[in-house]
Amino acid sequence: MNSLPRPLRVLRNATLSDGSLVDVEIGDGVVVSTRPAQPDYPTAEGDDVLDLSGYLLLPAPAEPHAHLDKARSWDLIAPPMGDLGLAIASWRSYAATMTVENVADRARSQALAMLAHGTTAIRTHVDVLLGDAPLRGIQGLVQVRDELRDLIDIEIVALPGPDIPDWAIDAALDAGADTLGGAPHIAEDPLADLHRLLAIAERRDVPVDLHTDESLDGAVTLGEYAAIVTDWTRNTSAGHCVRLGTLGTAERDAVIDAVVAAGIGVIANPITNLYLQGWEHEHSAPRGLTSARALLDAGARFAAGADNVRDPFNPVGRSDALETASLLVTAAHLTLDEAYAAVSTGARDVMGLPLAGATPGAAAEFLAVRAGSLAEAIADASPERLVIHRGALVARSTLTTEIASPRIGVPA
Ligand SMILES: [Zn+2]
Repeated sequence: MNSLPRPLRVLRNATLSDGSLVDVEIGDGVVVSTRPAQPDYPTAEGDDVLDLSGYLLLPAPAEPHAHLDKARSWDLIAPPMGDLGLAIASWRSYAATMTVENVADRARSQALAMLAHGTTAIRTHVDVLLGDAPLRGIQGLVQVRDELRDLIDIEIVALPGPDIPDWAIDAALDAGADTLGGAPHIAEDPLADLHRLLAIAERRDVPVDLHTDESLDGAVTLGEYAAIVTDWTRNTSAGHCVRLGTLGTAERDAVIDAVVAAGIGVIANPITNLYLQGWEHEHSAPRGLTSARALLDAGARFAAGADNVRDPFNPVGRSDALETASLLVTAAHLTLDEAYAAVSTGARDVMGLPLAGATPGAAAEFLAVRAGSLAEAIADASPERLVIHRGALVARSTLTTEIASPRIGVPA
């Protein structure tokens, strides 16, 4: 029988990423204290005590850029492989036929797969659809957000293409979307669409998270975005920023200075950028990632997401933030600590969520993974995991492996 969720009061013998061994006390969903582990901790083992010997205790991952309405549609659509334009065409053809129930079923499966891997907060973009029923995606996600409200914090970003009228955007916000998104870079006039979307966000007084400059050439709208919102107090972020990564250092640094001054959070999406960008290059294909190192060095709010999972925009993806962290190390040359921060504490910051982790006063959102170090955790991505949300164990994965004995020390 499923015994979860299981409220917890103490996490014992947990290894932190700095190598220290600690006991963590939890109360009301918040960390009360973190102390060196005591062999004779004055607490009897009980349902509210969790022994984490052999586990690395990390702040739980947060996913700053998902598309739960699109997830797990690759096998249904069987689209051709290709670039962003081709993916959009494949998706729009399928989306014309999908129902609220179909969206909800795929979104729920995807969110629970992410929770099992440790993600306890998800920001998902959801298409505002063409036609006279534009809210099927939003309605499916509002339903799933409600069904999973005790397990995962889900934020819905309404994602209107440039051909979606203002009335449908207002209807999406009225129907329960939390945040306004968009993709001005695919508009015929990107700056006009940028201004349109930001004017709606200001009128509706909602946060903004735009797909921004998701291409290797063409318009650079990020600087204009920063200039417009520089005096805003609403939370703002920009996903992808692929074009930023192609600019020369002087132009790039000027844009980054504006982004930092405006407080815009930048969200890299390595797996989708690696897949969708560079198809037109027959050799020396670029990686298509944003300027992660320069952004971090400049003090920008920085996060990374998995973006698409098994849909026309990315046929693969493991629903695991450790996969995104691993790609940040290999494709963006971040350190292990920077990479994990981008998918956990950095992501929570960009999403406007409170700090999480083994710090007194922080939210008790944790991923415990079978590993002795952060390098081992990111490299092996062990399936043995315990996931804690609001101080309760909400997911547990175990693994049984049998390997035939090697002939160590046995004469040939
Ligand atoms: Zn996206």
